[in-house]
Amino acid sequence: MQLFEKLIEYPEAERLVLESTALLPMEEASLDEALGLALARDLTATTDSPPFDNSAVDGYAVRTQDAAVGRVFRVVDEAPAGRPARKSVGEGEAIKIFTGGVIPDGADAVVMVENTSGWGETFELKKVPAPGINLRAAGEDTRRGDIILRAGTEVGSPEIALAATQAYGALPIYRRPKVVVLSTGTELVEPGTRDLAPGEIFDSNSYAIVAAAREAGAEARRLYAASDDADTLRSAIEEALETADVVVTSGGVSVGEKDLVKSTMLDLGVEQVFWGVKFKPGKPLFYGTRGETRLFGLPGNPVSAMVCFDLFVRPALMRMMGRKDKSRPRIPVYFEREIANKFGRLHAMRVSLKRTEKGWLAESVGAQGSGLVSSLTKADALALIGPASDGIPPGELIEGIVLRQEKLVS
Ligand code: AMP
Ligand code: MG
Repeated sequence: MQLFEKLIEYPEAERLVLESTALLPMEEASLDEALGLALARDLTATTDSPPFDNSAVDGYAVRTQDAAVGRVFRVVDEAPAGRPARKSVGEGEAIKIFTGGVIPDGADAVVMVENTSGWGETFELKKVPAPGINLRAAGEDTRRGDIILRAGTEVGSPEIALAATQAYGALPIYRRPKVVVLSTGTELVEPGTRDLAPGEIFDSNSYAIVAAAREAGAEARRLYAASDDADTLRSAIEEALETADVVVTSGGVSVGEKDLVKSTMLDLGVEQVFWGVKFKPGKPLFYGTRGETRLFGLPGNPVSAMVCFDLFVRPALMRMMGRKDKSRPRIPVYFEREIANKFGRLHAMRVSLKRTEKGWLAESVGAQGSGLVSSLTKADALALIGPASDGIPPGELIEGIVLRQEKLVS
């Protein structure tokens, strides 16, 4: 049995993770694949947008100098979207035009069809248009040469729309980290494949971690559940190292004699950054690097695995992608009753949140055991309760890490 050499504090662990992670190389991602990624450089408008003067409505392009209520216009051509008219507009003439159609030469306004006697070879004007009315000018949206999006911007659907108007079929971004997830434990069975034999449980961590990594924007895949056998574990970690930017294991990282993850990683040339955090849930967390690859050995207890993913792995993934929102939002929370922490280390307590006139009221979701997966589904936030022995008085504000952001606006 090997004991922790040195436990570090949570902020120190987070700092070490962030300090040792860097942006991944810049890449081009197609518009369909760029969602959620950060732009690696400024984007410049390549053309004026819209590229030509066009109509904002369905109606008739006319010369306003000819306009008078009751005047009859002759329709000489038409200009649907995508097909400019061949003719220009002369005195007393009009060209039937549709939204997005090119404004024909000669015309300086578009009369909405509602302000005429209707569609026909001729029409009577019911309302005089002002010059320029219903006309969308070339370049009114963006001008060639303008910086339309700044480096670092996270690409959402509006940014994709804007880039497309400027002919960008692909965007320069920092690529998504490739995360390989490996659960360890001889007791683990893939859910949905067979019944459990005595002593077995279903592997939930690897599914949860893959999902959380994808939620964070990474590319994630699961290897398999490796047994606690040294050779199997070694070849599984070797396989993960082949393709991963980030390897995330769960289980087998504590101080028991079946806990071989750390020693196996070290054997494979991984350099330990830290092992052991003064933190609950998740004390045995391991973090190391090998070349450009980052390796997290998360504890096996499902709550510890998920909380450690959220607090340590997720920020690293965000940083690799150049995303700004590296950490979850922090808010002050309070409890109605005195809260004690007898663990001698920082306790990230799973709580639900309620908005009150005093701020955010935190309530424990109930038992805080690290194996209680159901408790995670009830938690809105983690309340950070320091190890001070005399407890936190009712109403005192402490830091809460928001897990469900939607809660803040509901
Ligand atoms: P360990 O960290 O390997 O000592 O595991 C701690 C606890 O978490 C044990 O009860 C394991 O059975 C459980 N556990 C480990 N890995 C997983 C997993 N992938 N899914 C669900 N529970 C797990
Ligand atoms: Mg285990």
